[in-house]
This record gives sequence, structure tokens and C-alpha cells, in this order.
Amino acid sequence: MKTNNLGYPRIGSNRELKKASELYWAGKISVDELIEAGKDIRRTNWELQHQAGIDLIPSNDFSFYDQVLDLTLTLGAIPERYTDFAKSNSSIDLYFAMARGAQKNGQDVVAMEMTKWFDTNYHYIVPEFTKNQKFALLSEKIITEFKEANDLGIATKPVLIGPISYLLLGKEKEEGFNRIDLIENLLPVYFEILEKLEVLGAKYIQFDEPFLALNLTDKERHIFTKVYNEINKRFPNIKVILANYFDCFGENLATALALPVDTFHLDLVRCPAQLDDILESGQLAANVNLSLGVVDGRNIWKNDFKKSLTIIEKAVAVLGADRIFIAPSCSLVHSPCDLSLETNDNTLTPEIKQWLAFAKQKIEEIRLLKQFASNEVDRNNSADFAENTFANENRKTSKLIHNEVVKNRVVGIKNGDDQRQNTFATRRQKQIEALKLPLFPTTTIGSFPQTAEVRSWRAKFKKGELTQVEYDALLEKETEETIRFQEQSGIDVLVHGEFERNDMVEYFGEQLDGFTFTKNGWVQSYGSRCVKPPVIYGDVSRPKPMTVRWAKFAQSLSSKWVKGMLTGPVTILQWSFVRNDQPRSETCTQIALAIRDEVVDLEKAGIKIIQIDEPAIREGLPLRKEEWAAYLDWAVKAFRISASGVQDDTQIHTHMCYSEFNDIIQNIADMDADVITIECSRSQMELLDAFADFKYPNEIGPGVYDIHSPRVPSNKEMVHLLEKAAAVIPANQLWVNPDCGLKTRHWDETKKALIEMVAAAQEMRAAV
Ligand code: GLN
Ligand code: ZN
Repeated sequence: MKTNNLGYPRIGSNRELKKASELYWAGKISVDELIEAGKDIRRTNWELQHQAGIDLIPSNDFSFYDQVLDLTLTLGAIPERYTDFAKSNSSIDLYFAMARGAQKNGQDVVAMEMTKWFDTNYHYIVPEFTKNQKFALLSEKIITEFKEANDLGIATKPVLIGPISYLLLGKEKEEGFNRIDLIENLLPVYFEILEKLEVLGAKYIQFDEPFLALNLTDKERHIFTKVYNEINKRFPNIKVILANYFDCFGENLATALALPVDTFHLDLVRCPAQLDDILESGQLAANVNLSLGVVDGRNIWKNDFKKSLTIIEKAVAVLGADRIFIAPSCSLVHSPCDLSLETNDNTLTPEIKQWLAFAKQKIEEIRLLKQFASNEVDRNNSADFAENTFANENRKTSKLIHNEVVKNRVVGIKNGDDQRQNTFATRRQKQIEALKLPLFPTTTIGSFPQTAEVRSWRAKFKKGELTQVEYDALLEKETEETIRFQEQSGIDVLVHGEFERNDMVEYFGEQLDGFTFTKNGWVQSYGSRCVKPPVIYGDVSRPKPMTVRWAKFAQSLSSKWVKGMLTGPVTILQWSFVRNDQPRSETCTQIALAIRDEVVDLEKAGIKIIQIDEPAIREGLPLRKEEWAAYLDWAVKAFRISASGVQDDTQIHTHMCYSEFNDIIQNIADMDADVITIECSRSQMELLDAFADFKYPNEIGPGVYDIHSPRVPSNKEMVHLLEKAAAVIPANQLWVNPDCGLKTRHWDETKKALIEMVAAAQEMRAAV
């Protein structure tokens, strides 16, 4: 039996990589210092795994920005627009220019596109392919890093995205070909890499082919067969570990099992049924190994040794211990680094801390599981085993987690609790009478500029340098100025500006029971950017109102309507580490009930328009299409529960950004928000077509300007977009608003843009 790790976090336990790369970009450290920082991280990671007794330690899992971009460079697939830049710059600067764009010495290149890595919050740089795309070995990163580890006395297993997944991750940049047909051009470079690794003594290679978890075409499956047979034919002595993760093989299972590889890696956290399927299918060739991904690489919970050992023992009984590897479910790049750095008992209490494991602890778990499963260590006499059992038992019954009132409330949800009192048509009439808004009403999405000053108040307040009274007074002043600006510029539905919020999920998490926070639980999101998701450990409830104070204060300042502003249950779920001891749908429903109470309290406080943001609804979609319906069912229901406690004449808004709506438009309509605002301007209103084709019945605010840019659009541009919108959506259904919140913008450009936006709405009204 062996231990096998798929990848280790490369940001460094104290975000050393972030610090070094940002210093390098700012010109404050040399390229040698940056490279040295990378080397340090790799050495630390390898040594840590080596000392922990991991047999198959990954190399080439390090990256200065992104592993897909590394591979693009390795394969020489550099888009043409970088040709000039490449001539006069070092390869690392070219690399960063492809990742982030570059403006220097009169050169100006834009970055390559970035998108989410499957259903994670990690973003990769999307390869760009042309019809006659050539590939050539350009960077020896994978080879030098293998050597580097060898020099430290550590034989590693190089990790590479497999050729088929690499092509599928990319995009065709011109018409007339399918990127999968580039496989013939691509394979020779992979062979060249394998040859060099073999000469250096590499025994194993891990090919990540996560597309095996997605819905593939027959042609794509056929290419899998061809490619891996050819690799096997040319390199019979290299042991290929084929890694699939994030979901089941599904209908690709038979194709996969017929591939001539040494080992299949299975994600048994996401797809526990897979092991039985494979063991019972009889299709696993003799001598082929299974790498059992039993330790969750996507979450922070301590492994349940008893449960994992049952799974491992089942596989051992059929295949024998020699054919079993113990592994994390996927690369640990999606886990925070080291739980032992969490030393502040106020943020993470000892009781909660004992339930958790970050990357370093997961490595330990993998080693221990192997020792128990192979009887190297007697579990009945092991303090580690006892501690693991205790923590898991404690978590099952802890009063911190289990709240009968919350559980009963979920069970007691009645038919109709997820429905407004009347249909939209009826509500609409009542809202028209109650709200008296003009045609093309103007509004914003919620946040106004979070200036350095506003952030400094929060920092001082947290350090105790400002009292609550002083802090609130500053926020009140900022809110009042924002209300006055909106009134003066003629906006119809105002917002308070969200100055009291650090982040749209953390702000609510901090006020809800069942949430906690780490000090150092950072996970790479893209490049040097890391996120620190809240931890949902227990039943969620709302001890007291969360936003009513600010909403009431803001409304008291104005005779115009001020929107109440909330984050929706699906988005709160999606951007947190979620407990794994109950279905996600259950946790989401608990959050929905808490938000529902807040909505009702806002209504009681006199707030007539309430927005429940759900930007993350789409990113929660499962990877496999056959699982979409079940997810959408509970996600939409959670939103409806949160929104349905109010009277007909209270208007519920929702907001979504970064979304394609085509294939989920029915579900968006089912959310039944009175008004939805969406990001639209960069697509020139194209995203609106889904709503038009569907004859979306409720009101809709397609964003008329891009808030990601400091550029101030003219009212003419916005009129042009609104005319496009009015051509496909009836005018009396349309709202006028920016794409998203304004918190990253400066006041100056914000004011100018909103004044232009109001002028655009007035012009539209005049033309009716
Ligand atoms: N109300 C939030 C804001 O304006 C919405 C942010 C989002 O959709 N990502 O900041
Ligand atoms: Zn948004």
C-alpha cells in the first residue's frame, strides 16, 4: 500500500508567494529573489511531505501564477499578440504579461482570459488556440523541478494536466476547427517531456484528466483511448496515474477502465459509489492500482478514520493491499495550508479547531490511514486514532453544532412558505400603487466606494482605536453623504452604500450563529489573490437583526425609497466552507430561514424594497448535467423561502453577476423576484436575449455600464444600450442600473457615471 498526494498548496503557509510576487510586480525585489522565494516554498512542501512519509510526492504542482498557464508556456502555445513583448522581455515577464497584461516601456498587452477551474473558486488562464496551432517544448519547468527535488534527495511524481483536458480547457480563437483535433500536433510535445523525465529517472507521472468527470462526446472518449494507448506503447516503463476528480466517471467509466494505465485515482468524497461500481464491474484489469481519494481536498473537516478505513478495507479485500494508494480526493491546492497556525482561540475555539484539518494535517491523515489499514500501527493502541474518533464523535453531538430549534423549523417548513401571497401580476399592481416609481426607474446595486478611509475606520475599530460610537458616527456621515448624492443626482431607488460591510458574505457570517472564521485559512483564488472563506460548522440561525439598524437609519434620511440589502442563502453557502455532516441543501435552507427573518424585520421597519443578492447561483451548478435539476430545485427554493415572508406590495429584488442565463432561465424565473438586476454591459446586452426569448415576465435591470472599469460612459452609450434592451423587453419592465456594486470604484468616476446614467433614463422616458 502506498500514500499518494496529488498536489500541495503553493501559496506558502504565510502567503509567501503572494508577498514575493506582488513585490516583484511592484519592482521592489529582483527576479532572482522571486525565483528564490518559489524555490523555498517547493523545498518546504517537498520536505514536509517527505518527512510525513508520503510515497508519491508531486512535483510541478508549484506555480508562480497558474498551472494551466505553466503548461501553455511549456507547450509553446503563446498567442500571437505577445510576440513583440516576448522579444524584449524575460520569459517570466512574458508569463506574467499573459496572466495579468502589461503596460511598460511603451508596450501594452492585455491578459489572457481567466475562468473558474471546474466548480472550484480557483481560476485558471484559458489557453487560446488557432486552427493551425503549433506546439513545441518551450519551457522545461516540469523537468527542472523534478531535478530540483532529486537534488534534495526526494524522488517525485511529476504532475501534468493530461493532453485531452488541456485542449478542452482552452478556447478556439477562430472559426472552422475543433480544438480537440489539435491532439495530433500536441502529443509529440508530451512525448518529448516524458522522454526527458524518463532519462532523469522518473518512475511515475500523474496525468490530471478531470474532464473524465464531465459529459464527453463519443469522439472525445475515443481520443482518450487512442492517446493513452499511444503513451503506453511508447513509454511502457513509466507508470501513469490517471487522476479524475470532482465527480464520478459516469458514462465515461468503461472507456476509462479500458485505458492501459498503472493507477486510477478516484475522488471518493464527491463520488463514494464509484468504488463499488468499479470493484463489482470486473472491468479493472489485473495489476492496475486504485488511488482512493478519501481525504477531502476541497474542505477543511477532519477525516473520519473509521469511515475511511471501511472503504479502504473493502478495496483491499478485493484487490489486495499492494494495489491500493491512499490519497486526498483532489489536489490540496484547494485547502488552506496549516491549521496549527490558528492560534487565536477567539476566532477559532479549541472545540471547533479539533474538528478541522488543513493541507498539512491532511497529509498526516493520509499517512495514518495507510498505517492503520496496513496494520503497521495498531489502531486500537493509537493515540491518533483515539483522538480522531473522539473529535468525530464530539462533532456528532456537540451543542455548538446542533440546535433543535433550527432543525425543527426546517422540518416544519410548509407548502407555501416558499411562495409569495399572490402571483407577480397581482403584486405588481400593488407595488405600482405603493411605490409610485417612474418608467425606467434608476437604482444601483448596493455598495458605494469603499475608500481607503472607510477601510481605515474599520481597521481602527477592530483594533480598539475607535469606539463603537465613534465608528458608527463616521459610517453615518458617509451614509448620509451617499444618500444626499443619490437624491441630488435624481436616482429613484436609493441604497445606503454598504460602508459597514467588509465583504458581502463575511458581514452576514459574523452575525449568524453556526459560522466561524480563521485567521490564516487562505486559499488561492487566482495568481496572488487568496480568499479566506468563512466556516459554517453548525446549525445556522440569526440571534438578532443584522442590517435593520443601517437600513432604518438610511431610510430615515430620505423621502425616497431606500433598498434594504442582503446576501442570499445560495451565495452565502457557495462562498463558505460548508459542513459535511448534512446535505448542502439542508444548510442552505437554514440560511434561507435566517435571511427570511431579516427580510420580514426590514419590512416591519418600513423598508419597502429589499434586494437579496444571489451572484453565486450559477457557479453552484454541478459538473454533470444530470445533477443540475436537483441542485436548482433546492437552490431556487432556498431563495424563495428567504423572499416569501413579506406582503405583496413589498418589492423583492435580486442581483446576479458573471452569469450566462440561457440554460437556467426557467429556474431564474422560478425565483420569482419582482425585479432582477444583471451584469450585461460588456456583452452589449446579449445576455438579455435569454430573458427576451423566454418572455421573462417580471421586471429586469440589465446593467448599462461596466463597474470593473474606471471609465465614465456617456449617457449616449447608455441610451444606446437601453434602446437595445427596450427592443426586446417591454419598456415598463425595464430598470436602469450599473452592472454591479460600486465598492471598487472611486467617488469621482462614480458620481460622473451615475449622473450620466440618470440622464440616459430621462431620455428614454422622454422618448416614450
Ligand atoms: N450588493 C453587492 C454590492 O453592491 C452585490 C455584489 C455582487 O453582486 N458581487 O457590492
Ligand atoms: Zn454583482
